[in-house]
Amino acid sequence: MGVLTRYGKYLPVSEKTPAVNLEEGSTPLVRLDRIGGELGIELWAKLEGCNPSGSFKDRGMVLAFAKALEDGARAFVCASTGNTSASAAAYAAHVGAPCYVLLPSGKVALGKLAQALIYGARVISVEGNFDRALEMAREAAELKKIAIVNSVNPYRIISQKTGAWEICETLGQAPDLHVVPVGNAGNISAYWAGYRDFNAWGRISALPKMIGVQAEGAAPLATGKPCPNPETVATAIRIGNPVGAKTAIEAVSGSGGFFETVTDGEILDAQKTLASRAGIFAEPASCATLAGLVKLAAAGKLPGGSKTVIVLTGNGLKDPDAAVSRVGPPVKIGGTLDELLGVMT
Ligand SMILES: *Cc1c(COP(=O)(O)O)cnc(C)c1O
Repeated sequence: MGVLTRYGKYLPVSEKTPAVNLEEGSTPLVRLDRIGGELGIELWAKLEGCNPSGSFKDRGMVLAFAKALEDGARAFVCASTGNTSASAAAYAAHVGAPCYVLLPSGKVALGKLAQALIYGARVISVEGNFDRALEMAREAAELKKIAIVNSVNPYRIISQKTGAWEICETLGQAPDLHVVPVGNAGNISAYWAGYRDFNAWGRISALPKMIGVQAEGAAPLATGKPCPNPETVATAIRIGNPVGAKTAIEAVSGSGGFFETVTDGEILDAQKTLASRAGIFAEPASCATLAGLVKLAAAGKLPGGSKTVIVLTGNGLKDPDAAVSRVGPPVKIGGTLDELLGVMT
């Protein structure tokens, strides 16, 4: 059941809103007992990489497209570190509309680039970083009167609240800690708004603490300082000037949570841990969440037994280069059985 079907009565949709549906949302919430046990907490992972284009972006994109079509939009534009473009290109293809995507040159994971291209978007590589590409997309949208589907589009954030609603419905309550990677800071704001909705509607009785994790090289919110040249292996959160800064800060401070930073090395270690100890392959940005928890546990700052949800925002297959950089190549042998038995240790 897609997001607009499952949650239409809580979203700004009417009979006039086109029923866009790629069966996004309703993603698995998986309990990770091995890793949780080591950290001394009850750990759950929300597998947003199971969405149709492989990231949580589909949750918001479906409503952004539906509302834009309702308003008569004929074409779509976005700037992206990769997953927004993959998602926008998928929905544009699904509804039969043209889509322009602006990508910062050379900094997009291969899987995401392949997605935007194969879905048939007009893919434009921009010299400069994400923040510059977004400025250009906003100006072009205004001039050409086409719909911009970045998270400046309010429907994206509204519809991303469904992630929090699903977690509450599955657990029957909110977690104690909600941990999410922060790039442009839309998702953390959406989750917090979603939990607050469910609290206001009497569906949960307590709110989680929100923990926003940033990469050390792209940590404007964690440090409180602008970051003109963001750098990290986690390209999805390689953002120096988050559009959602204000609401993200409100989410963190309003919930009694905090921001945290992790290094690229810690991110890739956490990616390996999730894959090899839980069977879950998530992209580097997603793994910043577990890296953050590992760091907190080591510092004795993780309350024992906390019911904790990490949002694994995107699928690991999108960025195979990052994973291979951490684990190295396969064992090579010739074609004999002896050689094979020799390496089966
Ligand atoms: C977009 C994205 C993020 C960052 O989310 P924001 O809403 O920009 O903070 C994190 N991880 C992945 C995989 C993403 O695609």
